[in-house]
Formats: sequence, structure tokens, C-alpha cells
Amino acid sequence: MGRKNKTNGSFDNPGYARLSSRYKLLESLMDSAPDVIYFKDKNGRLIMVNQAHARGLGLTPEEVIGKTDFDIFPRARAERMRKDDLQVIKTGKPIIDKIERATRPDGVDNYVSTTKIPRFDKKGKIIGIIGITRDITRRIHLDQVVQQKEVTEKKIHDLEELNKMKSELITVVSHELRTPLAIVNEAVNLVYEGIPGVINHRQKEILDKAQANLQRLKRMIDELLDLSRIEGRDFKLRYSLVNFNDLLGASLDFFKRAAAEKKIELSCDLPKKQVNIFLDFERINQVVYNLLNNAVKYTEEGGRISVEVKILENKLRVGVIDSGIGIAKEDLNKIFNKFVQVSRIPQFRQKGVGLGLSIVKELIEKHEGEIWVESKPGVGSKFYFTLPFFYTLRELNKNSQDKVNRLLEKNIPLYLINILVVNYRIFRKMTRISPQEFFSGLREIISRSANRAGGKLKSEIVFMDDKFGECSIIFPRAHAGQVSEFCDKFKKGVTDFIKQKNLQDVFINIGVVAYSPEGKLKQAQGLPVNLHISKIYIGSEVRRFRRMEYKANIDILLPGKIKDPSEVIDISEGGICLASSRQLKTDSRVRLDLKLPSGRQLSAVPARVAWIRVVDTLRYTEGQSYKIGLEFIRLDSAQKKVISGFIRSRAA
Ligand code: ADP
Repeated sequence: MGRKNKTNGSFDNPGYARLSSRYKLLESLMDSAPDVIYFKDKNGRLIMVNQAHARGLGLTPEEVIGKTDFDIFPRARAERMRKDDLQVIKTGKPIIDKIERATRPDGVDNYVSTTKIPRFDKKGKIIGIIGITRDITRRIHLDQVVQQKEVTEKKIHDLEELNKMKSELITVVSHELRTPLAIVNEAVNLVYEGIPGVINHRQKEILDKAQANLQRLKRMIDELLDLSRIEGRDFKLRYSLVNFNDLLGASLDFFKRAAAEKKIELSCDLPKKQVNIFLDFERINQVVYNLLNNAVKYTEEGGRISVEVKILENKLRVGVIDSGIGIAKEDLNKIFNKFVQVSRIPQFRQKGVGLGLSIVKELIEKHEGEIWVESKPGVGSKFYFTLPFFYTLRELNKNSQDKVNRLLEKNIPLYLINILVVNYRIFRKMTRISPQEFFSGLREIISRSANRAGGKLKSEIVFMDDKFGECSIIFPRAHAGQVSEFCDKFKKGVTDFIKQKNLQDVFINIGVVAYSPEGKLKQAQGLPVNLHISKIYIGSEVRRFRRMEYKANIDILLPGKIKDPSEVIDISEGGICLASSRQLKTDSRVRLDLKLPSGRQLSAVPARVAWIRVVDTLRYTEGQSYKIGLEFIRLDSAQKKVISGFIRSRAA
């Protein structure tokens, strides 16, 4: 570059030959810089430019030399540049880091930072300028994102404060309303009963209406107070170990009468297995009550309501399905919001307050579950919710259940550790160890590890099943540090046991051990709870229950040959979880085209929609998005092999 023009500007001096090696150095330095660098003479003529400058203009350096900004840029911009050049030349003072918005010749908008310094000859006379221009578009965008983030964070904080104030206001006002309301109610009752004097039929009719509305007002206030309590910071779930079929049974008995009055057929599809699950009995009862109440309320005479319970991989799913009036598509997103009543049919309007579903959603999410709805006007609605479910619990005998519940009732913090030997049958065959021998070894390791864990950990095996390879231990009053120490000791104990019994070919891995750090016996939402559950997997195969994070694009093949590109979040041998902008139908069957990072491709893998989490999308994207749990249906052995191979490679 520029060398054949070395007669130009300050480089045309007799000492050039001597300087040529230094000049070469400068030239290669300039050319390797990503910034635009140029030398101009006093008249604004470019006498030397680097590769980056020429490249940006779509020219070669030779083509740029000799030109002025007026030959290259639009007039207005060239004038601005010339003005800056002249300022430097006249004042002898540099312009440093001047940030400007510019449009590149290819039409792309960007930001540049320009520094211009004067060039002097040997006598100190200004003979031109040296300019450096840097593309700082990314930096500016990053700054903008940071600024935007700060603004958004402040907005969220303000909104949270406002929300808190609003909740407090609601609590105070509702509370204050209760007393006068009770007095008015009492007065109406007295008059109705004819105590201050006999009233006629017409007057009774009027008071009937007043009473109904007073009841509605009371319900509204009660629900408002309840919702603000649930949303409040001090709200706590009170877990106990509950037999889910019993919980549902009681609710169903209650609603059978209400349904029968409307000639609605109410049926229930419960799993044959006992389902013991940790939940807040009162609150889940409230959820079931609300959903069934709505189902009865919004179903016309002669309709049908069914309740179904399904055990998913690690969740329990409950569906309340009715053949009622249904909900319009555009209203589906709204119904979990406060004070929303969407019914367009006059006789179904005004029947409620519009708070029931907000309470339901809040309660399910506090239990770390999902809730979603599918509906069609005139056909009916399907409300589903899930609750996390731990496999060993269903087998707990009554005594152990009572023991656990007594501790929970007293609000004693509790750790529960579930140990599962994965693929137990195969494991037993391969190890040729008798279940009795294995489990008595395990029992010993547990008690030894507990004894040695930080200041002796009080532990109790509440469940041990040598037929299925499952075991549950509780640690009352333990703290996280102790539990984590227990897990480490247990892991080592099992490893030693394996060596001792010469089982090294079989055992490879002790799977996930999760414990929350000290003082954070909290659920995901930061909710204080009195229960924490960890899981340990033993065995050569950790696949089935282990979910591996795995980000990739995936095509869901929907019925009717529709392809829906989505994004996988994680994968296990049982299924995958993905993010989608489309809400799929619960239990619908889809096929998946999966491309694993290893390059292996699986096409048309059959799967079933097991659960859906509605994700409130942030303000900058439109609509809602969904996290969808898909369970694989009967993979063939080749498909199984590819997926488990992938998971095993990740686990390793
Ligand atoms: P409400 O007290 O009005 O029943 P909810 O929060 O329980 O309040 O429900 C909000 C709205 O959602 C209802 O007003 C109704 O329009 C609609 N809705 C709820 N459940 C059903 C259902 N099973 N069928 C049809 N519409 C329903």
C-alpha cells in the first residue's frame, strides 16, 4: 500500500531509504489493525490508508490514496469530517474518541469512535492529520442493553413495590370491610327472620337478593384476603405426606351431590397404585375444590365431568375435564389473571368473582407444579395441574407416613433422601449379589455415614424395598452441611462396598446428589418450606431418571404434517423437555426429529405430551411460550441405544 505514493506528504524526504525498514514495520502494524487508520495532508487528501480502511470502502488502498472524503462519502458527512480535520489543523489539538453514528457504504448503520491527531514536519509545522476510526457498534449496543437492563430492573423493582403496596392495601381494606359487612348481614338476617316485625312476601324476596349479594361480597373479600396472604412474603406451605386418592375421594364425594342436582355425570379415573405425595393438604384441596366448582358451575345440565390422575415420570398429573360451555381461544391466556371473568353467556356471568383460578395457579406454582388449560367453546374445558412426585413414597407404610407427618406437623425441618438402584433387575442379575446381602450392606453404609456426618446425623430409614431396589431415609432437624456430608460419605461407602464385593465391572456411577446450601431450605421461588428432598441413584445405568441439559433445535411433527421447530431444553431416557411457541394438546402424540450433538440423527421418534408449563414471556416478545414435557412412547431398541448412549456419554 501507499509505497508507490511515497513521494506524497511527509514520506517524501531523502531519509526515506533509511527509514524504509521502520516504515515496513509501521505498514504491517497498520494493516493488521482492525481499526481504520489513515494519514491526510493539509488539503484533506489521503496519503496513506490501511487495509481495513480500503476494505470498508470496497476498494484497494491504492484506489483510495489521493482521494478526499468528498470523493468517498456523501457530501454532508464529508463536510463534517473536513470540519474536524480543519479544527485539528488550525488548533493543533487532537480530537479524541469522538463518537458518531454512521452509515456504512453497504447501508448498515453503525457507531464509530474517531480520534484525529495533527501531523508535524521536522520543524514542528502542521502538515496534516492522522486519523483512527474504530467501529464501536457492538460496544454501543452492549451499553444500550446494559442501560435497558437497568431501566427494566428498576421498573420491575418499582412494580414489585407497587404490587406489595397494593397487596397491603387490599389486605387492610378487605379486613376493614369484614366487620361492617358482618353487621349488615346480621341486620338483614334479623329482618328476614321477622324478629323486629313481620315482613311480607315481596319484602322477603328483596331480602333474598340482598342476602345472595352479601354472600357474594363476603366470598369476594375472603378470596381477596386469601390471595394476598398466598402472595405475601410470609406465606408458607405446610407439607404433609398425603394419599392422593384419599384427598380426591373426599372432594369428589362433596361434589357428587352438586353435580347430581344439575344432572351432571361425575366420574373419576384414579391410578391403581397408591399415590403418596408431599403436599399441603388444605391448599391442594382448595385447588381441587375450585376446579371442580368451576366445572360444575360452567357445565350445563346433563353434562359430564371427569377427574383423571396420571403418574408421569416424576410428576403426578391431575385433570379436571368438563363438557361445559368452554372458553374462547382469546380468553384462555387471561383466565388465570385476577378478577377475570370471560363467560360470554349471560346466565354464566356474574356467578363468581374471578379470583378462584388466580388462587389455584398461585398455589400450584408454590408447590413447584404446572397448571394449564385447553378448551373449546361449546365443547368443554380441560384443566390440568401437576405436582412433583417422588417414586419411593407410594410404598411408605402407614407407620412411616405417620412418623413423617408428625414431624412435619410440628414444623420440624426435614430432609428426605431417596435412593434408587437404577435398572435393579438387570443390576441383580449382573452382580449376582442377593438382594438381602446388598440391602443389609446398604443399611450399614447408611448408618455409618450418618454417624460420621458433621456431629452425628440422626437418620431413620423409613422405607427399604429389596424387591424394587428403593430406599428412603429421613433426617429430621438436619442442616444442609450435614446432609451433604452424609451424601459424600455414603457415596464413598458404596464405592468401597463395590470394591469389597468385587463388583467393579457393574457399578460405575452414583448419580445425582442434590442438596441445598445451609440456611436455604427453600423452594425455587424462595419460599420457605419445612421439607427438602434429595435423590441418589446407584447403578451402572443412571439414564432413566437423569435429565441431561441439551440445547438443540428440534422439529416436532404434528398431525397433518405440520412441522413445528422448537428448542430442546433437556433430555432423559424417558423423554425430553422443550420450549415452544405453540401449546400442544395434552396427551396428543407427536413425532420428533432429533439431532444429537454426536451427529446421530433420530427421525420420527414417537412421544406423548405429558405436561405443559405456561411461561410468561417477557415484555419484548409477544404472546406466551410453553415449556413442554414429552414422554417417549415405546422407543425401538436402536433408538433407545442412541439416546442412552448420548446420556451416558454426557454423564461421564
Ligand atoms: P369465577 O369466580 O368467576 O369462577 P375463576 O377465577 O374461578 O373465577 O374463573 C375465571 C373465569 O374463567 C370464569 O369467570 C369463567 O369465565 C372461566 N372459567 C373458569 N372455569 C371454567 C370452566 N370449567 N368452563 C368454562 N369457563 C370457565
